This record gives sequence, C-alpha cells and structure tokens, in this order.
Amino acid sequence: MIEHLLENIDRLIQQRPVCKEALESYRELAGLMKEVQPEPQDIRFEERLKDMKKNEGFPLFSREDLPVDLHASSKLFAKFMEHLSNTERKDKDGLKKVLEKSKNDLGWIDSLLKAVLGKDDKVLSKAGKELDLDPATLSFLAQEALRPSLYALRDATYDKIDTDNWNYGYCPVCGSEPDMAYFTKTGKRYLHCELCSQEWAYPRIKCPFCQNEEHKTLGYFDVEGEEGFRVDFCRKCQRYLKTLDKRVFEEAAPMELENLATIHLDILANDHGFK
Ligand SMILES: [Zn+2]
Ligand SMILES: [Zn+2]
Repeated sequence: MIEHLLENIDRLIQQRPVCKEALESYRELAGLMKEVQPEPQDIRFEERLKDMKKNEGFPLFSREDLPVDLHASSKLFAKFMEHLSNTERKDKDGLKKVLEKSKNDLGWIDSLLKAVLGKDDKVLSKAGKELDLDPATLSFLAQEALRPSLYALRDATYDKIDTDNWNYGYCPVCGSEPDMAYFTKTGKRYLHCELCSQEWAYPRIKCPFCQNEEHKTLGYFDVEGEEGFRVDFCRKCQRYLKTLDKRVFEEAAPMELENLATIHLDILANDHGFK
C-alpha cells in the first residue's frame, strides 16, 4: 500500500509540477512509512457489525478506540522527527524540540497520537506552544505516523462494510468527516475519510456536514485551469469539500495524495469564506 503511494507521488509530481515541493517532502515521509510494519490488531467484526446494524448509523469504531498499533506509530513518529529536524525546514528548531521531548518522555508520543485520534485540540495546541511548532504540523505528522496502521485497518475492514449503502456524512469505519470527494466514471459521488482513508458513496446533492439537501443553498465553483476539480460548498453550514472528477483523469492518485496536491484549493475556498 505504501509502495502504491510512492508510485503515485512520482506520477503526480510529473503531472503537476506546482505541487512538487509539498509532494517531495511527503515522499520522504512515505519512504519512512515503508520501514514500519504494524502488528495486526484484534478487530472482531462480527460482534461489532451486529451492533452497528442494530444501532443504525454507528461507525464500526469511535476514533478514540480505533484498533491501531500505537507502538509502531510512535516509532514512526520518532523517525519523522529524526529526519525532519535534520532538514533545512524553517521549523526545524521546533522539530528538534519535539525530538528531544519524545526521547526524554517515552509516553509523550502515545499521548500525542491519542490526542490526534480523539481530536483533542487542547493537547495539540499546548504541545505546539511548549515546543515552538505549529499545532497543525504536529497533528499532520502524528496522523501520518498512524498511516501504515490506518491502512492496515482499512484493508481489514474493507469487505466487511457496505460502503455503497452507508449514506451518512461520516466515515463508516471511524466516524470522521470527509476531507475530499470524487465522482466515479459513472458520475457517482464518493467521500474520502480524513483519518482512515475509507471511501463511501454519498448523494451528490447533499451536504455531508449538515445534511442540507436544498438546491438553492448548495453549490460549487470550478477552478480556472484545473479541469477535473471543483469545490462544493454549502451556504447553510459554510463548509466546503474539494471534489475530483475521475471522468476527466485517466488515472487518479489515492485521495490522501490528491488532497495534499490541492492545498491551493483549500486556500481558495477559505478566501470565499468557507471553512
Ligand atoms: Zn475513517
Ligand atoms: Zn452544510
């Protein structure tokens, strides 16, 4: 799976030279991900699936209880820090402090990973302040350190859930919000989970964040010079979602990469007042 990620990074760099810098630094992280082999976790589908059906609309797991290998993820996070604090990044001093902190306090990375899983922004902003690092960077790197384990979880749950008939705006595996959407070759819309990368079908004219279905408050804008991308928005909740149209591209990269390669669309959406 990580190999697939690496192959696509190289292809995307060739296709979209504008994103070269972001993708090249991500390729270094992906190279480190390849060195980590997460332990298979006890997932126990049957019991949980029964519960899910019974309760309707409950994801398989809550983010806090995701069966991920925290030990392998902690090791990977430390590898990221070793690597990044030796680059010429502007924030390398903060990264060095994070590296020192994780060496002196072994349980600290675990608590950081748990904060990311539990979306505990207080823990992240406190750590960011203490260590002179943007909390968003800290959160991004911690989430990427969980990636090999999250991929293992996605692969283990993939054929156990009916992703075509989930119909909720949150992920059927972990309950997270989508960070991107795409249209299939037949025009069907799928959402992509911001955390575990699971994908599931969702109506085209419906906001996944507030379930608004009114035509007049839902819309999208196209982006000049970016055929195959658009930004869908909802005027009720002021949220937006970047959408890739697979009918335009011969081959699309995994959505987590497409997300990284379209950060300029996030900036554009923010400029339009969407969050
Ligand atoms: Zn998920
Ligand atoms: Zn909405």
